[in-house]
Amino acid sequence: MTLVTNHLPTAELQALDAAHHMHPFTTGDELNAKGARVITRAKGVYLTDSEGNEILDAMAGLWCVNLGYGRPEMGQVAARQMNELPYYNTFFQTTHVPAIALSAELAKLTPAHLNHVFYAGSGSEANDTNLRMVRVYWAEKGQPQKSHVISRKNAYHGSSIGSGSLGGMTYMHAQGGMPIPGIHHIGQPDWWAEGGDHTPEEFGLARAQELEEKILELGAENVAAFIGEPVQGAGGVIVPPSTYWPEIQRICKKYDVLLIADEVICGFGRTGNWFGCETMGITPDIITIAKGLSSGYAPIGGSIVSDEIAEVINACEFNHGYTYSGHPVCAAVAMENLRIMQEEDILSHVHNVAAPALHAALETLGEHPLVGTVNKSGMMASLPLTPHKESRAKFAGEGGAVGYMCREHCFANSLVMRHVGDRMIISPPLVITPEEIEVFTKRATQALDATYKDLKDKDMLKAAS
Ligand SMILES: *Cc1c(COP(=O)(O)O)cnc(C)c1O
Repeated sequence: MTLVTNHLPTAELQALDAAHHMHPFTTGDELNAKGARVITRAKGVYLTDSEGNEILDAMAGLWCVNLGYGRPEMGQVAARQMNELPYYNTFFQTTHVPAIALSAELAKLTPAHLNHVFYAGSGSEANDTNLRMVRVYWAEKGQPQKSHVISRKNAYHGSSIGSGSLGGMTYMHAQGGMPIPGIHHIGQPDWWAEGGDHTPEEFGLARAQELEEKILELGAENVAAFIGEPVQGAGGVIVPPSTYWPEIQRICKKYDVLLIADEVICGFGRTGNWFGCETMGITPDIITIAKGLSSGYAPIGGSIVSDEIAEVINACEFNHGYTYSGHPVCAAVAMENLRIMQEEDILSHVHNVAAPALHAALETLGEHPLVGTVNKSGMMASLPLTPHKESRAKFAGEGGAVGYMCREHCFANSLVMRHVGDRMIISPPLVITPEEIEVFTKRATQALDATYKDLKDKDMLKAAS
């Protein structure tokens, strides 16, 4: 066996990576030609690469490392659990302590009526569970035709065929036969990009009312559920206008349509409360969880369902599940994550320290000539870049080119800020300190300045007509 370690030269690691490792959401040839950055270790909010660079991770990995990197307790719990019971399934009328403990804890943390957890290995798998579960729910209630699900354009619910179909990413739908039948997409509440001359409040209401139109078009007797992220994450941190979610909730109630809140990013403190549905003031029937559930230290996701749904599903045999549903090591790690979050009162840190500091930093960045506005909810934010703030104009030329340019400047300045189109995305570990936020602001400003200079030099500071 070839020993591949951190001590190999970067170029050698990159060559092996290029030869044998296929990356998600990546043009392999392009990446392989330049070589992937090799991340070797991480502590707190900082990553270290194989060249010894210390990079501030303002994305918390992929929106998941809420506790920050390198918490030794997490590794200790994983090791202890692996030695005691590394694996057993929950199919054969069996259970184990980590799954029991985590389920009971989740029931305590979620809104009162959400008390029953069905585990998955990821957010995608959990949303696949949801799709089947809402259909089985209505079938068991004698309405098998009530099976259509309504989602939004530019939503992200995962990358499997089911969850990718629930999502509204057109570039994903273009590959591999998605969306599957029975899933419909209405407009998203993205006032910045699509609100035109409406006020945000008018626009939020209008976009919510598209749900009612779609339900009436399909017939309420055919619609099982609506799914949405309380705040769209991968779509670009789109914080809906205040009028949006109350209207969605009203419409779901009126037509007896189940409401699924995909909390994979918003859950576990990201928006400042335990769950995004609390921040948005809604009462979903199901929430999807993953990412922050374990702070990304172990792959685990799930669906937390209402008492009413559990009563119906528990009365039948639900022919669904994953080998790793409720995996004991992942469940123990998730439990430890929740213990630390509560013992260290991470939510108070967010509320009193991190969010105020981040919001002040974002206000400063918002004054940069390239930044159109600041979209924010708790510890997630986006900065849409624009050649003209007042008109919220897009750049002439290919969408996303400026965002990509800015992301490259961020990387060059030892900062991870992702781009979605021409929006820069911020979602740091929740434990970030004001001092670290100062470092973030400094590096982000350097990247924005460098992007601005590039655009001027290349005569790209022009609005699309
Ligand atoms: C990341 C994400 C998912 C998919 O989770 P995976 O663990 O990548 O399968 C689903 N929904 C939302 C809102 C997400 O952000």
